[in-house]
Amino acid sequence: MSTEASKKAFQEAQGLIPGGVNSPVRAFKSVGGIPLFISEGQGAYMEDIDGNKYVDYVQSWGPLLFGHRDESIEAAVIEAVKHGLSFGAPTQAESELAKLVISFFDSIDKVRFVNSGTEAVMSAIRLARGFTGRDDIVKFTGCYHGHSDALLVEAGSGAATFGNPSSPGVPADFTKHTLLAEYNNIESVKKCFADSQDIACIIIEPIAGNMGLVPADKEFLHELRALCDANGTLLIFDEVMSGFRASVNGAESITGVKPDIITLGKVIGGGMPVGAFGARAEIMAQLSPEGPVYQAGTLSGNPIAMAAGLAALSKLKQNARVIAVLEERGRGLVEGMQKAASQHGISMQIDTRGSMFGFFFSQKPVKNFADAAASDAAVFASFHSKMLSRGFYFACSLFETGFISTAITDAMIEETIAASAEVFKEIANG
Ligand SMILES: *Cc1c(COP(=O)(O)O)cnc(C)c1O
Repeated sequence: MSTEASKKAFQEAQGLIPGGVNSPVRAFKSVGGIPLFISEGQGAYMEDIDGNKYVDYVQSWGPLLFGHRDESIEAAVIEAVKHGLSFGAPTQAESELAKLVISFFDSIDKVRFVNSGTEAVMSAIRLARGFTGRDDIVKFTGCYHGHSDALLVEAGSGAATFGNPSSPGVPADFTKHTLLAEYNNIESVKKCFADSQDIACIIIEPIAGNMGLVPADKEFLHELRALCDANGTLLIFDEVMSGFRASVNGAESITGVKPDIITLGKVIGGGMPVGAFGARAEIMAQLSPEGPVYQAGTLSGNPIAMAAGLAALSKLKQNARVIAVLEERGRGLVEGMQKAASQHGISMQIDTRGSMFGFFFSQKPVKNFADAAASDAAVFASFHSKMLSRGFYFACSLFETGFISTAITDAMIEETIAASAEVFKEIANG
């Protein structure tokens, strides 16, 4: 398999764009190697500029639930383009998509559209602070909520503590209101409430997908809800990734825990840049221009993005059972790989939620970021590059989740498992 054209393109890009990429995880840094430059996608496949074809388990990091170039999404976008790219004035498509989103989630009466998951979360936090009149927020180590200042915080230690920024350029003053807790550890959350009487919200990925796939324990989420209720704190479910992926009706439908605010992104735009946040009417009424909490966007709700989102979500609405089908396929994939790995003495932890799947090369179950970070990164890197050279495109970091699209067939799953068996044999033989 030649990747000469990608190598050249990457070299050129590095001279023009920092690191040659417009989002760091694309750079293949944690697995070695170079990023492949993609020329096109079709269904389950992506093709790079050297002409190599891959079964795509990344799906643009989540958005492409129906695979590449889904016919109805493509047609909807082309039709919308013919009427104008953007007006900066309301269109009926916004209400149509809003109606659809609201119909999926019990906890959402009203929704606001933005252009990315980062923006959705950043705005939801502001809304929670405005609504409660409080400043502090609690986030969990290993959960990713986009790259806004207050959320770019990781743990110094496992215990709840006031956060340190995890990037230069983020003043400590901007993160001193961000308290950290450990995922699936309720005591660490109680410590936050002992440290602060000023907690506006807890934000969590109820099905974490940014430390690999690590779903929260149901009981833990119920306890979070109870702590929030006891303290007048809002609970935000960041479902930018898990929304429409783990289930059709949100984590609430899987766990029975009701959030106050939900943030969405990825699938909601069908491949176009769309984010959203929604809540019950009383909370959303605080948002500008109805209320005093300011939030805005030149291209927010733009007609092309709305058309793509509408096509994707309508399709899901009409065929909600598809998530169960994808879960079965994903389960088959990770169970097959796990079996192949164990035949070569390699331990694998696996999990699925709807069309999300995850695996760690680890001997013990992964419950939090520390467990994920303790898994075998060297085996992962080797697995990644050997699968890639056989035509299977997995996320280039062990802290990511895999995605099944409706374009991926059972036969492709079988091929992937067979390839993984070869790969594990090679890894075991050093
Ligand atoms: C991807 C992601 C974000 C950020 O979304 P962008 O569109 O990349 O800004 C936020 N939260 C979660 C849970 C995500 O997976």
